[in-house]
Amino acid sequence: MVSKNDLVKELYPEDLYGYAEGLTDGEVEVLQEVREALETHVRPVITDYWEKADFPFAEFKKVTDVGIMNNPKLYVGREGERKPRELYTAFLYLELARFDASIATFYTVHGGLCYNTILLGGNERQIEEFAPKLASFEWQGCFGLTEPDHGSDIAGGLATSARREGNNWILNGEKRWIGGADTADVIPIFARDVEDNRIKCFIVRKGAEGYSADPIPHKGSLRAIRNGHIVMKDVVVPEADRLENINGFRDVSRILVRTRADVAHIAMGISAGAFVAALKYVKQREQFGKSIASFQLVQEKLSRMQANVVANIGYSVRIAQLQEEGRELMLNSALAKMHNSLNMRETVALAREVCGGNGITLETDVMRFFADAEAIYTYEGTHEVNALIVSRELTGIGAFV
Ligand SMILES: Cc1cc2nc3c(=O)[nH]c(=O)nc-3n(C[C@H](O)[C@H](O)[C@H](O)COP(=O)(O)OP(=O)(O)OC[C@H]3O[C@@H](n4cnc5c(N)ncnc54)[C@H](O)[C@@H]3O)c2cc1C
Repeated sequence: MVSKNDLVKELYPEDLYGYAEGLTDGEVEVLQEVREALETHVRPVITDYWEKADFPFAEFKKVTDVGIMNNPKLYVGREGERKPRELYTAFLYLELARFDASIATFYTVHGGLCYNTILLGGNERQIEEFAPKLASFEWQGCFGLTEPDHGSDIAGGLATSARREGNNWILNGEKRWIGGADTADVIPIFARDVEDNRIKCFIVRKGAEGYSADPIPHKGSLRAIRNGHIVMKDVVVPEADRLENINGFRDVSRILVRTRADVAHIAMGISAGAFVAALKYVKQREQFGKSIASFQLVQEKLSRMQANVVANIGYSVRIAQLQEEGRELMLNSALAKMHNSLNMRETVALAREVCGGNGITLETDVMRFFADAEAIYTYEGTHEVNALIVSRELTGIGAFV
């Protein structure tokens, strides 16, 4: 029988320092099943879906059927918990993103942003209603914060309005870039209460009257996930579907602290995926009668990519450990997101470079990672916004405006 440590080496050869050895046997088994489901069901279709700008719902369902959020193997010794361990989550993102960034993004919107919004913002009744169905993927979730006119300045600028009328709230406004907005069952919408000016969160349910979401066309990055432009005209949400623990942007930030770390993990996974694909290619390609992997200039790039990947895994694993201990800080998440995204951007460029002309086709995989990295660099706080968060801590001076 293969030992756990041998198995993780086989699954993640790019994890040179062996961070994955901290996973439990059950967690590794689930990740191995995820790998098999991705390779068997999603691999044959992913480039076609990327090209036609659509999400492979039926094929991805085979991956979620593994129980990526709720498989009992993830809860051994921690029965009653609502979430798998953070280290597993980091490696789940590695697994998904080293395969495809749109798949990982779909998951982060559902299992990261939406799920954490329910857990952190909902009362017991709401958590009981939504969390199990989200964890089993019976319901699809999304996350409506960004607006057409407010991205980086959303904290102060959020313009979607919520007006209370008896036992209901009336929502008006627009949201942009919302992953899965046209298919989701559970749509948390952040809106400003016209009475007290505070940001609150309302669960809009699929089919709500006055809600429409059109996929944003002509994207050149993350083409395999549909990002919606939402318009809400007098959408009615009952008070019972307002998440009562969200009463201002400070509460939204508690969600973003977690999800920013998730996106650092996605950047780690993309770096790993691009590196692994590039390494495979250079070993096969010959020029000047020799394998291009034998050229010193190519080898230097391979080493740089490998170093970036190990550094990114290191950041992700440490932040996962801190989260597990309840030591979550926006500074840590912002630093990890910033660091891993910068390294990712360099890694995908090097990966594309060593694949030459074939590196600009979808055949070698690196082009998908190269194009998709741009969206990850921007979402969940742009590079600049995360850098400003880090430097605010360093200097004590907020330099956003
Ligand atoms: C593919 C994708 C998926 C997304 N999914 C979701 C989702 O599911 N839900 C959701 O709510 N949102 C989502 N977003 C939105 C995302 O979080 C925003 O795009 C991001 O916050 C940046 O906002 P913006 O695009 O409006 O850029 P802007 O804020 O307009 O920024 C443009 C540029 O100006 C810079 N800039 C802005 N302010 C400053 C400053 N003070 N100092 C220095 N530079 C500054 C930025 O860093 C950036 O380089 C998604 C975005 C993308 C691209």
